[in-house]
Amino acid sequence: MSGQLPKNRQNDYSREAIRGRIEKLSTLNGRPLKYLEQSAVDPELTKGNIENIIGFSQVPVGIIGPLAVNGSHARGEFYVPLSTTEGALVASYHRGARAITMSGGANVLLYRDMIQRAPLFVLENVFKAAEFIEWFDSNFDVLQKIAGDTTAHGALESYHSFIQGRIVFIRLNYSTGDAMGMNMATKATHEMCNYIDKNFAVERYVIESNLAVDKKPSAINTILGRGKSVTAEAFFTEKVLSRLLRTTATEIDLAYKRQVAGGLIGGVLGSSGHVANGLAAIFLACGQDMANLSESCVGHIYTEVTGNDLYVSLNMPSLIIATIGGGVSLPTQKECLEIMDCYGDGKAGKFAEIVAATLLAGEISLAASLVAGDFVSAHEKYGRNRPDET
Ligand code: NAP
Repeated sequence: MSGQLPKNRQNDYSREAIRGRIEKLSTLNGRPLKYLEQSAVDPELTKGNIENIIGFSQVPVGIIGPLAVNGSHARGEFYVPLSTTEGALVASYHRGARAITMSGGANVLLYRDMIQRAPLFVLENVFKAAEFIEWFDSNFDVLQKIAGDTTAHGALESYHSFIQGRIVFIRLNYSTGDAMGMNMATKATHEMCNYIDKNFAVERYVIESNLAVDKKPSAINTILGRGKSVTAEAFFTEKVLSRLLRTTATEIDLAYKRQVAGGLIGGVLGSSGHVANGLAAIFLACGQDMANLSESCVGHIYTEVTGNDLYVSLNMPSLIIATIGGGVSLPTQKECLEIMDCYGDGKAGKFAEIVAATLLAGEISLAASLVAGDFVSAHEKYGRNRPDET
């Protein structure tokens, strides 16, 4: 096993442990690895976030704003950190933020907040399956209590049941405070399943049936919601449209109609232009679980021309974000959340609304650049990194 990477039994997160693995990797591939292990952040802080650590990816962070938000949780002007290696992205979102702020800000509403776990139960036959659904419903208050006893910050709120022959799928909806909640929901569901197993004749159960639906794009998350469901709107005046975005209300409205048509042909979930761009950049800067981008990046856009002005709304039905837990406490991630006063207790709703307003900024800016013809020139100016041929 000459390729085996060294482990440090005393402390695998020490700089010595990292050095050992880096040296081994450098020897194996014959190239020096200079940057990975250099960090201002103490690697020991990453316990619980990573294993076999060899250093830090140092991705640049840009800032946009001020972005005016009139939310149910977020109120004021915010600066939003975006971490990316995609040139033109920050410039584009910054322009969108200016357009929103000059137009009086984005109205934003967090209207639903639930994370899911979806166990499945195998019963004797379809009739027992129906009986089980009835039993589950009449015992729901007991099950809520069992789930609730596992956490001080979460609660089992509601559920949907689905039947496939003798298998019953239960999609549980949990509130989880300011955490994204998957660990909390998993622990609560585990206790609940144990109780069910002892009190109803299930042949077997599986704690997750893939109907949650975690880390995959899906219709059910888009329709019933997952994580935070947030909607944002802005009214862009003719002046902002012509002077800042160099376009008109009608042009952008038409651009979205064409975008929806193209998306329908392509079978796209949602109708947004590129919400994944801003989302990925916020997730990376703010210590969110990057894999949750897959369900978070579905967005619906709606536009309306009113005189020479333009109304745009964006709906984000399944935004998985947190201000507690996961990677948010790591130093740079925490600082980025603190720039928006979104770190910690009681801040998840506010963060969700700032995220939605930011995504709306990206949408209006992209649509404007497509119709005003500066989509290519902006990327030529900010976003090209041809390999060095010298
Ligand atoms: P967590 O980091 O495991 O735990 C967060 C804990 O913080 C809660 O359990 C809660 O303790 C405590 N807490 C303190 N103040 C809180 C507040 N204001 N709001 C909510 N909680 C508060 O968090 P998690 O969100 O449950 O799990 C997130 C992690 O799970 C992410 O890293 C994610 O990638 C990962 N994940 C897990 C699974 C899985 O299947 N297990 C799946 C996908 C992702 P109490 O519960 O004691 O109240």
